[in-house]
Amino acid sequence: MTLPSSARPSSGPIHPALTATDPELAALVGAEEQLQADTLRLIPSENYVSVAVLEASGTVLQNKYSEGYPGRRYYEGQQNIDLVERLAIARAKAVFGVEHANVQPYSGSPANLAVYLAFAEPGDAVMGMALPMGGHLTHGWGVSATGRWFRGVQYGVRQDTGLVDLDEVRDLALKERPKLIFCGGTALPRTIDFAAFAEIAREAGSVLVADIAHIAGLIAGGAHPSPVPHADVISTTTHKTLRGPRGAMLMSREEHAKAIDKAVFPGLQGGPHNQTTAAIAVALHEASQPSFRDYAHAVVANAKALAEALLARGFDLVSGGTDNHLILMDLTPKDVPGKVAAKALDRAGIVVNYNTVPFDPRKPFDPSGVRIGTPSLTSRGLGPEHMPTVADWIDRSVTAADAGDEDALTKIRREVADLMAAYPAPGLPTA
Ligand SMILES: *Cc1c(COP(=O)(O)O)cnc(C)c1O
Repeated sequence: MTLPSSARPSSGPIHPALTATDPELAALVGAEEQLQADTLRLIPSENYVSVAVLEASGTVLQNKYSEGYPGRRYYEGQQNIDLVERLAIARAKAVFGVEHANVQPYSGSPANLAVYLAFAEPGDAVMGMALPMGGHLTHGWGVSATGRWFRGVQYGVRQDTGLVDLDEVRDLALKERPKLIFCGGTALPRTIDFAAFAEIAREAGSVLVADIAHIAGLIAGGAHPSPVPHADVISTTTHKTLRGPRGAMLMSREEHAKAIDKAVFPGLQGGPHNQTTAAIAVALHEASQPSFRDYAHAVVANAKALAEALLARGFDLVSGGTDNHLILMDLTPKDVPGKVAAKALDRAGIVVNYNTVPFDPRKPFDPSGVRIGTPSLTSRGLGPEHMPTVADWIDRSVTAADAGDEDALTKIRREVADLMAAYPAPGLPTA
């Protein structure tokens, strides 16, 4: 598997000016670089961006104010910035096959808030997947502004299958007639049936929003079905499987372009982060290359191989496996709480997050599950042949967590660092 671009050399400071000006902060950055280099990062919403994306996000484009849109700005001096944003928009339209793209949202959560602003009024019913079932906070969950200012109607998965119950979604939608229906989420290991959601939204008179934050890279690479032409609006982050900078995009058909653009600016935001826009353009250029298709398919192949290896070691996986980049393990049969396992794995150099599982009897801050994914390890070039080793490390770490065996965790940490040293990551020091 090819890396987006070469890893950095180890000799000399990577950030000479930063090191000279602020050695304290430079040391922290250096420590983080070392941590990202040495550990096995299994958080499914994270990735390693290319050096080209890193460079674009560290440019003087950051010095410029650009409220408005290309050709319609409230500040002068946009000769170059307009071209940067137009490039990002054109590439987004080409990669995803959409009529309209807005590349200005600061991140996924503000992007979703802009959708509410564009299509709903406070107090309206809005529908999304419940957070503990795998949905996102911004899909109408109670503690989020979206759940406080709108009437969140929440659907889930079936207890017996771990899959979204589309009959339940249809019944709820026809009863509540929500302004918006969100599909997509943060802990969904299975393919999203965009066509079925579109049918339900049509019947209920709702705007369908496909939140593809997690799977945008898989869609760009042809490893997950596209929400085009089913969804009215597509919301995505750019920093997860898409492997770009921290940012977001909203995409739609031409008919919704005005409403979306007005909601992002001036509805919700001020000036766009031009350095991020530039880095999004670079990431989209990378995503349009044939090698990115290989990457997207390798992410899924790795996740399937890892799921099989975990099942073979007696792990219980929500929905029984995965179709995408993500695996949700229910550790109840192992008798180890998710948080205890996640913290032990961290000490073993394997970075995951603890997560609720559907119908979790435990509390959200101390749930039964651990969520893992393969975007990052695939960016480093690991393949299906490595997944039994990864599953073995996870198994040994969970056993060590249960037994309180710190020596076992230290031993695994060394084994992890050894393997990762052979698969350097873009932008990170090599051993
Ligand atoms: C990550 C994510 C978001 C939010 O993105 P942030 O950039 O963290 O605000 C929104 N929706 C879904 C489904 C996500 O996975």
